[in-house]
Amino acid sequence: MYQPELEALPRPRLRALQEERLKRVVAYVHERVPFYRKLLDEAGVDPKGLKGLEDLPRLPFTRKADLRDHYPFGLFAVPRENLARIHASSGTTGKPMVVGYTKGDLQVFAEVVARSLAAAGARPGMMLHNAYGYGLFTGGLGLHGGGEALGMTVVPVSGGMTERQLMLIQDLRPEVISCTPSYAQTLAEEFRKRGVSPEEISLKYAVLGAEPWTEAIRKQVDEGLGVRSTNIYGLSEIIGPGVANECVEERRGSHIWEDHFLPEVVDPDTGEPLPEGKVGVLVLTTLTKEAMPLLRYWTGDLTFLTHEPCACGRTHVRMGPVLGRTDDMLIVRGVNVYPTQVEAVLLGIPEVVPLYQIVVRREGTLDEAELKVEVSEDFFRQIGQEVLSDEVVEADHRLHALREKVAHKIKDTIGVSMRVTLLAPGQAPRSEGGKLRRVLDLRK
Ligand SMILES: [Zn+2]
Repeated sequence: MYQPELEALPRPRLRALQEERLKRVVAYVHERVPFYRKLLDEAGVDPKGLKGLEDLPRLPFTRKADLRDHYPFGLFAVPRENLARIHASSGTTGKPMVVGYTKGDLQVFAEVVARSLAAAGARPGMMLHNAYGYGLFTGGLGLHGGGEALGMTVVPVSGGMTERQLMLIQDLRPEVISCTPSYAQTLAEEFRKRGVSPEEISLKYAVLGAEPWTEAIRKQVDEGLGVRSTNIYGLSEIIGPGVANECVEERRGSHIWEDHFLPEVVDPDTGEPLPEGKVGVLVLTTLTKEAMPLLRYWTGDLTFLTHEPCACGRTHVRMGPVLGRTDDMLIVRGVNVYPTQVEAVLLGIPEVVPLYQIVVRREGTLDEAELKVEVSEDFFRQIGQEVLSDEVVEADHRLHALREKVAHKIKDTIGVSMRVTLLAPGQAPRSEGGKLRRVLDLRK
């Protein structure tokens, strides 16, 4: 552990620390952020009257839209000149979302990422190949600061330029890599194409995040790169990566660094707190942020919490995998569809690989969903390489049968009809280190 005295703090003492910090942050934002003063006053919350964590549900939620509405600096609790750094989200439409850090915030950021890396298996002196994008995105600089704090040798490769990444991994021989799970898949695939076996790759641990992923992807990455991969969780609004990380001992849920980030899981429709183990929206309150503290931030990520004791000895609560996002959820003909559900179905069909894109259009008044998915290399060899690329596509009965099989399984499992288009290996969109868009919704 990077900070054993905090990471293994007995629960009663952790709770006392959280209560003290919660009271402090509520008073702090009430005094310094007009947006919160108004919300707290309207909710009838007097910061001096807060008793403890049992008062948490009385506090107002903060939503992504609140950050956009106060673009760029409206939610900041310190003067602009006290900010040491700015990051911003890559807004797909309109203005991005701006977040800021004081020097103290950057210190906490480095500490929680260092804890995360240590949980993932990294040790001082190891080399970190950091393939997260550097820039406004928090991934690159976030992992970088944490790696340095832990005492690692950090290689700031950033995303993209896959050929150069492969070369650097082979020549510098890093033990740890950090990137998105889809990019780790890309690297594994490229190594395999070049005849480099997992035993020849120096990597031992992979710290993967910024996208929801599954156990099947973990298996592919672990086997393909010869690593033990763990999930790192985070979001820029809260601090960036390093809000939580799985421990390499169990790899069953990510420890949320609860002395800094207070988690709740609530019902997506009513906002009511849910009991442990129930899936709902993860809501986080920052307990120590100075520049932009957030009360009960609605992450949109669907997951659950568990206090089950962990083999690693950390006492901090674990969150399950992110099962989807409330805003990634597609409604197709009235049915809720999460990309991770589609992925789970594809993983059960050996003739295809879980590299896909869902395209939704509106034909007249009806939603039409198309699923583009890559066939496996084995299947591709069997049918003959020319088949997928020309007119024979429609006629070939093996392709027809596979399309039917995929469509049936999707319909059976998720309850939605999708037209299936098969792609040759290498044709589905690949991650270049940033976030991959699995869904193309053309209805808006
Ligand atoms: Zn653990």
